[in-house]
Amino acid sequence: MEANRIYNFNPGPSMLPLEVLKEAQAEFLNFQETGMSILEISHRAKAYDEVHNQAKADILELMGLGDDYDVLFIQGGASLQFDMIPMNFATPEKRGNYILSGSFATKAYKEAEILGRGYVAASSKDQDFKHVPTQDEIKLSDDAAYLHVCYNNTIYGTEYHYIPETGNVPLIADMSSDILSRPLDFSKFSFIYAGVQKNLGPAGVVLVVAKKSMLEKSPEGLPTMLKYETFYNKNSLYNTPPAFCIYMVGKTAKWLKSKGGLKAMAEVNKKKAALVYDAIDSSDGFYRGHADKDSRSFMNVTFRLPSEELEKKFAAEALENGLSGVKGHRSVGGMRTSIYNAMPYEGCEKLADFMKKFKAANS
Ligand SMILES: *Cc1c(COP(=O)(O)O)cnc(C)c1O
Repeated sequence: MEANRIYNFNPGPSMLPLEVLKEAQAEFLNFQETGMSILEISHRAKAYDEVHNQAKADILELMGLGDDYDVLFIQGGASLQFDMIPMNFATPEKRGNYILSGSFATKAYKEAEILGRGYVAASSKDQDFKHVPTQDEIKLSDDAAYLHVCYNNTIYGTEYHYIPETGNVPLIADMSSDILSRPLDFSKFSFIYAGVQKNLGPAGVVLVVAKKSMLEKSPEGLPTMLKYETFYNKNSLYNTPPAFCIYMVGKTAKWLKSKGGLKAMAEVNKKKAALVYDAIDSSDGFYRGHADKDSRSFMNVTFRLPSEELEKKFAAEALENGLSGVKGHRSVGGMRTSIYNAMPYEGCEKLADFMKKFKAANS
């Protein structure tokens, strides 16, 4: 770690790999001998074209997907996808099915509801979103256009550890907070999207990875910028793309490849999460994890302390120890430590160590 950098446990925007930041810094003023920075270059220039297409290719390679899938870059955040998905894929007669497993899952469903196109196929709200619904709990409607899941629940700290079986119904996943963190059989998903600011880059672009058959044709009444077809037909260059964000996503994808890809990343991520969960489990109840053990997230570890006063103290002292952004979401309270791909193993070691010392001093 650089002397003046700290371990940043923020949920998003969040840490980026130091190597990626340094590379971007080194070529910032003169990108590939163009005499310009990537921020100033035309999105029609050849140098940009290579960045754009290489990022797409590297992402498909990391996910092990073939040419029946394509990658789109769209602005408006994951939140705009909550609207575009029901607009493109559902109708009042063929409703989008949703699993309510947390805040963003519910937000996605509410947008479909505004359009009169939503249906709740399962929910763990009654259990305070402590687990993600199991396969047995999922009841698709007869008219299901798709099943939408939020694969990692950033605020509650839960994550799917299975891929829902949906038969012929397309499976759509919001992977904003766990994209490219572990290998999965991505071919089971028809449509995956992620705001990149958690695991892949700076805020400003959403990554969509979807079957081409989902993207080729959008409903006719839709405005141009709300149609996936527009982005698909124009290689996400119908209008000016957020070139810097896509460039950073490309660099992060390369970094992932250099680390051994998703399998290697998942091994480190598992070890990182185990350090923090062990600190919770071995604390004799001083720390209480929010998530049920079988739904625990590898990316966001959520827990409470015996009192709100101690939680405030914990956050303040963590910061003094070079551990920032450990406070939980206002809707849940407590602590949340986000340990995405770019969080080094040493950061989690430091956190676990701090948790043990804090407990010893305050219980
Ligand atoms: C952060 C987050 C969102 C919201 O993303 P924006 O890009 O801010 O719209 C949606 N879904 C999940 C799972 C998230 O973690």
